Amino acid sequence: MEYPLSEEHQLFRETMKRFVDEEMIPVEMETCDEDGELKPDWKEKYHARAKELGIWKMEVPEEYGGVGADLISLCIVWEQLGRTVAVPTRGLGGIMGPQVRAPLYELSDELKEQYLFPVLNGEKRACFAQSEPDAGGDPGGMRTTAELKGDHYVINGTKQWITEAGNADFAQLLAVTDKEKGSRGGISMFLVDMDSPGVTIAGQFDTMMGDKPYIIHFDNVEVPVEKRIGEEGQGFSLGQRFLANGRLKHGSRGVGTAQRCLDLMCEYAKQRETFGEPLANRQAVQWMITDTYVELQAARLMVYNVADRAAEGNVDRTDGFIQKMYADELGFRAADRCLQIHGGIGLTEDLPIENFWRQSRSFRITEGPTEIMKMVIARNILREY
Ligand SMILES: Cc1cc2nc3c(=O)[nH]c(=O)nc-3n(C[C@H](O)[C@H](O)[C@H](O)COP(=O)(O)OP(=O)(O)OC[C@H]3O[C@@H](n4cnc5c(N)ncnc54)[C@H](O)[C@@H]3O)c2cc1C
Repeated sequence: MEYPLSEEHQLFRETMKRFVDEEMIPVEMETCDEDGELKPDWKEKYHARAKELGIWKMEVPEEYGGVGADLISLCIVWEQLGRTVAVPTRGLGGIMGPQVRAPLYELSDELKEQYLFPVLNGEKRACFAQSEPDAGGDPGGMRTTAELKGDHYVINGTKQWITEAGNADFAQLLAVTDKEKGSRGGISMFLVDMDSPGVTIAGQFDTMMGDKPYIIHFDNVEVPVEKRIGEEGQGFSLGQRFLANGRLKHGSRGVGTAQRCLDLMCEYAKQRETFGEPLANRQAVQWMITDTYVELQAARLMVYNVADRAAEGNVDRTDGFIQKMYADELGFRAADRCLQIHGGIGLTEDLPIENFWRQSRSFRITEGPTEIMKMVIARNILREY
């Protein structure tokens, strides 16, 4: 079963697959340090290779010096990189270049000079600050406020789980500008310099994946009106637009993880014998293999279908949720089955399986927990009846 890719996409997939098979998987247990960060020498090597392969700045539009790749090509890269733990899953080790959230392309020319171009040149880093201690899966419940006072807004509140905030020069921050309207036109997006008076890094979490997201306090932080992105009240939809591509990245990476875990479980099941026979002869093991294989076909068809249709301008939010939810859940199920089939050795750091298991466990929560995806999908299904 194959999603019909163009000849060009098939060739690109072969190139990416070869890169991962030959240059990443064989060294994947040595490329990251104890914190799960890509070691500097590997970072240099992979960044150079990414430029040769044409995946550096792949998401950046051509007019800004990037590749301006189509969504299918991006999914191919995310899927292939999802097959290895050679690069950390967060930001995929930066091997596709600096990550730019879409609203930055819509800034005024002056603000582009201050924020967009420095990010593209690697001179500045941005973080995306939406979640809060009491509003993660339900960002509409955020409490951080931005109150307009003359020519500036005054921001107060706490953001939590913010990736890279400690190293960021500025935040793309969402705050409430109209409590009555809430997520329906009451939330706006701002550019907030992290060295502004009143911005404090208040803490950091240590997660099982190695990610170390931050807590940030905003205490009467003044932000000039011109540093609001888009119109007042547009922030939530701008934020959701950024997350839409992120959901396809989740889906593709889930497919990649499931594929690799399937490969590993099949190889091991054929080679490992218990009670005088290979594990592959046991129905209990065969069913895990079959279920993973079948679900993988379904997930891949979903991800590429959603990407294909989005590329044609048919962005369907529910379909985006469906593929994210299904592929993220599958990525974890596949990693769990793979670990189970490997027994004790699967639990060790001698193999990449425990790493896939930890990373894919987090996919079911970040950028939209499964249950919330299901709630939104159900609402849309029920609307049809
Ligand atoms: C490593 C990491 C990095 C992150 N990076 C960022 C970042 O850079 N920027 C940012 O803004 N955010 C970031 N986040 C936040 C992330 O998106 C949220 O953690 C996520 O959306 C879940 O929010 P929460 O933890 O508050 O869970 P909650 O919203 O409190 O939900 C907890 C659980 O309750 C269940 N649940 C919730 N609502 C429902 C419902 N309606 N029906 C049924 N069940 C429900 C789900 O099982 C869910 O997992 C990051 C999180 C992590 C862990």
